Amino acid sequence: MKHPDEHEEGITLERLLREHDLTQGTPCHRCGYDLYQHRLGSPSCIRCFPTRDYHTYSDQLDRLHPWKRQSVKE
Ligand SMILES: [Zn+2]
Repeated sequence: MKHPDEHEEGITLERLLREHDLTQGTPCHRCGYDLYQHRLGSPSCIRCFPTRDYHTYSDQLDRLHPWKRQSVKE
């Protein structure tokens, strides 16, 4: 069995989510992004409440899961 190496090319969205404990949910009502991290029991939008290490993988995340700015209706 081939073991995927650590090259960026091998990184998938699924893997990124798993590594950073992110979940995909309904688009955030503030920014329209749909990835959340569970903190203190409740999910927090990764863009509105970025974690300390968010900048280390935000580029990859943007590439794999671009943020489509949505006009959110109230
Ligand atoms: Zn948000």
